Amino acid sequence: MPELPEVTVIVNQLDRKLKGLVLESIEYDWPKKFDWAAGPERPLARRGNKWTLDLKGAKIVGVERRGKVVLIEVSKVSKVSKVSKDLTILIHLKLTGQLIYQDAKSRITGGHPIPPLNLPVPNKTTRATFTFTNQGHLYFNDVRKFGWVKIVESGKLKVENYLKELGPDALEIGLDEFKERLQKRGQARIKKLLMDQAFISGVGNIYSDEALWRAKIHPRRSAISLQPLEVRRLYEGLQKSLKLAIAKGGSSASAFVDSGGERGLYLSYAKAYHMTGRPCQRCKTKIIREKIDGRSAHFCPNCQKLR
Ligand SMILES: [Zn+2]
Repeated sequence: MPELPEVTVIVNQLDRKLKGLVLESIEYDWPKKFDWAAGPERPLARRGNKWTLDLKGAKIVGVERRGKVVLIEVSKVSKVSKVSKDLTILIHLKLTGQLIYQDAKSRITGGHPIPPLNLPVPNKTTRATFTFTNQGHLYFNDVRKFGWVKIVESGKLKVENYLKELGPDALEIGLDEFKERLQKRGQARIKKLLMDQAFISGVGNIYSDEALWRAKIHPRRSAISLQPLEVRRLYEGLQKSLKLAIAKGGSSASAFVDSGGERGLYLSYAKAYHMTGRPCQRCKTKIIREKIDGRSAHFCPNCQKLR
């Protein structure tokens, strides 16, 4: 699943590209995961298995990230259309979501590398197509269909359920607040806690493994068992892993694809995640994988001892 760094990279690219563009419509074929929550007016037409939202004249103000969610801010739709509110389009890529923007001159891609991000679009994994007046399109592809799109009134963003439940951003939280929140969740196992979006937002399986490796902490440790020095190392390890990934991912538009399709560039410098059987970069002990709370944890059994 794309985590904070991957979402940041695509969001930054989309922000530069989409800002100022004017929408025509959004077409989608998966109404179960496409929620128009922006009030009673629903500028919608259905043709067969395709629904079309008429958003003619709506201008893109910017693209942001909250946790792992992409937020596309849209300014008031002009009089030609039926909607007259500022809107925010929330997109969660979940396990296999991709965002691909394409116009005559450029292509921006991000998200899960399967199917390959360089396939022609739209294709059979395309769930939603945003059409702009410059003839450009933004495609939301999702082979497993876990991802979702929700359109809300920007004024009601604060009460939007999904966002309301997000903890502080993993990149923005300070050490003191991190400590405090850890103490409140004493018995929780640290690996699971790091991935809990209500605890801090943006971290998943990859960067929890990476941060714990850097901090030399066993993924099964409870929050309360961490010594002050370990908490600091964990905080710093997390910041370092996230920032490094953003820096690497930002270097190329197709940063997350490789020829095998499975291991993106963001894993080529991973220390623990998906490194099972490879030597730990500190002590050469082989990295192992264990199921913990239903998720795979990758760690060094020598550097990250369960005490
Ligand atoms: Zn080691």
